[in-house]
Amino acid sequence: MAYDKDNIFAKILRGEIPCKKVYEDEHVLAFHDISPQAPIHVLVIPKGAYVSWDDFSQSASEAEIVGFVRAAGRIARDLGVVEPGYRVLANSGADAGQEVPHFHLHIFAGRRLGRMIAPARD
Ligand code: 5GP
Repeated sequence: MAYDKDNIFAKILRGEIPCKKVYEDEHVLAFHDISPQAPIHVLVIPKGAYVSWDDFSQSASEAEIVGFVRAAGRIARDLGVVEPGYRVLANSGADAGQEVPHFHLHIFAGRRLGRMIAPARD
């Protein structure tokens, strides 16, 4: 899939839409999800134009990948959720229910998070 430069996270990166920023560096922006699914629900996105986990893992530079992974771990530590624990999740493609076509990692925390995968509803 070609990258859509008008997707909502691209607009957030350009500052055209506001976000509640948690962290920013050269490669990464992190902000609170607009519709949180847990008491803490943060989205971590690369600044580069990658559609999905599949695209990012295949096409991003080593500096971008290392920067992203290091930042995601640091963000969780800064949020204070390493204990009692948290979940990271990336939806990739239609079956996973990916809604925004700019790669993002969800960080969920703040309560017992239950089963890893909910029963299918379709
Ligand atoms: P996906 O389903 O693609 O894995 O997750 C997309 C996430 O982006 C959803 O959890 C949704 O609530 C969040 N989201 C969608 N639009 C916005 C927005 O404009 N601002 C923020 N902060 N989050 C958004």
